[in-house]
Amino acid sequence: MTQPTTPTPTDFIRDIIEDGLRTNKHEGRVATRFPPEPNGYIHIGHAKSVCLNFGIARQYQGTCNLRLDDTDPLGESTEYVESIISDIRWLGFDWENRLFYASDYFEQLYQFAVELIKKGEAYVCSLSADEIREYRGTFTEPGRESPYRNRPVEENLDYFSRMRQGEFEDGAHVLRAKIDMASPNIVMRDPIIYRIKREPHYRTGNQWVIYPMYDFAHCLSDALEGITHSICTLEFENNRPLYDWIVERLIPDNRPQQIEFARLSLSYTVLSKRRLIELVQKNYVQGWDDPRMPTVTGMRRRGYTSEAIRKFCAEIGVAKNDNLIDVSLLEHCVREDLNEKAPRVMCVLRPLRVVIDNYPEGRVEQMESQNHPQRPELGVRQVPFSRVLYIERDDFMENPPKKYHRLGPGREVRLRNAYVIKLESMVRDELTSEVIELHCTYDPQTLNGPPADGRKVQGVIHWISVQHAVPAEVRLYDRLFTIEDPGSEEEFVQYLNPGSVEILTTCYAESTLKNVEPGNKYQFERLGYFCVDEKDSQAGRPVFNRIVPLRDSWAKITKE
Ligand code: ATP
Ligand code: MG
Repeated sequence: MTQPTTPTPTDFIRDIIEDGLRTNKHEGRVATRFPPEPNGYIHIGHAKSVCLNFGIARQYQGTCNLRLDDTDPLGESTEYVESIISDIRWLGFDWENRLFYASDYFEQLYQFAVELIKKGEAYVCSLSADEIREYRGTFTEPGRESPYRNRPVEENLDYFSRMRQGEFEDGAHVLRAKIDMASPNIVMRDPIIYRIKREPHYRTGNQWVIYPMYDFAHCLSDALEGITHSICTLEFENNRPLYDWIVERLIPDNRPQQIEFARLSLSYTVLSKRRLIELVQKNYVQGWDDPRMPTVTGMRRRGYTSEAIRKFCAEIGVAKNDNLIDVSLLEHCVREDLNEKAPRVMCVLRPLRVVIDNYPEGRVEQMESQNHPQRPELGVRQVPFSRVLYIERDDFMENPPKKYHRLGPGREVRLRNAYVIKLESMVRDELTSEVIELHCTYDPQTLNGPPADGRKVQGVIHWISVQHAVPAEVRLYDRLFTIEDPGSEEEFVQYLNPGSVEILTTCYAESTLKNVEPGNKYQFERLGYFCVDEKDSQAGRPVFNRIVPLRDSWAKITKE
């Protein structure tokens, strides 16, 4: 089998790394990390960062750490940690024994803060949050110095230790780095590096009531771990001088290089964690693993393969400018991968009964069917054929246009891997007069060959023998949003696609699908790629999720 070959990517980050290797910048080492905050499940945007960080480490024989960046107790949990670990594993990456938690550094980070106070480069500020904001100034005006800025070191040490002891309420004091209130970069105007937050932490419990801010904890965690290249998204560009300022003062021998790239935005999708949490908590979707979610767990349940996701991440590459990637590119990668791998089977989604009047009652023929037309090594299977069949309701029209190549009164069509049949008459519902059954005849000469008299039969349709049919449920998924960029709308839930899932409960699959394994993927001929749902499938009654529709189908279906 030919693996989808992903060419070794080149991009500006790899250029920077290679330049550094040439000049021996980090003693020739490459050490990256993926630092998710465990306050939600990871999504396709995180997957881009995972592929980048782990991919670079692999490419340059370096290392990539997994670090849970868990310094804000609100919203973090063990459930999220476990999901992140299993999702990154599933994506195909390994951190060996380098699983770290920023919360394991709390004591060290505290001591670093003390050191900064002792150097006269941090102070306890007792302005309120509003006052701090007001003193900070604007893009056009410099800030003003806090009246607490010149507190003596001893007093700062005393306050900071009492903050830790829990003497004060939330917001009463903060620890700030003493940098420059007139800096043109607002981030550098005496940023807060510690705050009081009387919240239990999912790992450290009630041990701490002060927590380090991201800007303080992140760079020091990187430096403590010996990270050489700290790759992050563009919104941290303004924070880079602060990153360097802190590391230079506290761990000067080990200075990671921060490099920013554009975060992934995907059309018809939201990727902000805050929005994904809202979708889950307000039940707009059925959990983080809802197959419509852009989370790794949702995509996995839907049936996306990790190979396809990695291919997609390689295709989109990394750039310095934000742009919206078309979700159809992701679907294309999934389709390409599954086209290669997924065995072909038949399933009827919206059944219509067909009786073949001239086929002997009680007779069953096994129709040999290829599992993959382009890959004969995948072998063949036997699909039972009998007198009463289901076909797709859409493959019949009572008053078809001339170029319709499927069933209509007096017309012929080929049944896939079986005979040519001709529609002779229709049975109607007495009340609604809807057609509920077709009566056909078959041409015994046409088993896998054209009619002997040379007449043309163009259409090919799929079918299921009623007597052998496996009842199934099929869930047809579509885009979750109706507009291209729902992420840019505050009221994004207004744009949820009401047709994002259609559940069909009376489908029939071929007999070979009676005992399928959860997670198995198939191409339903003419319909698309489908995956056996991991949660809801039962023995003898599979539930299939549509992964992606087929762009092309082998039947010649003329667009009416
Ligand atoms: P939020 O959506 O609230 O901004 P976040 O997505 O930044 O949160 P983190 O857990 O901090 O959540 O992300 C972990 C890592 O993944 C970070 O390095 C971040 O830059 C990266 N990342 C997050 N979203 C994307 C994205 N859409 N594209 C690429 N990388 C991303
Ligand atoms: Mg973040």
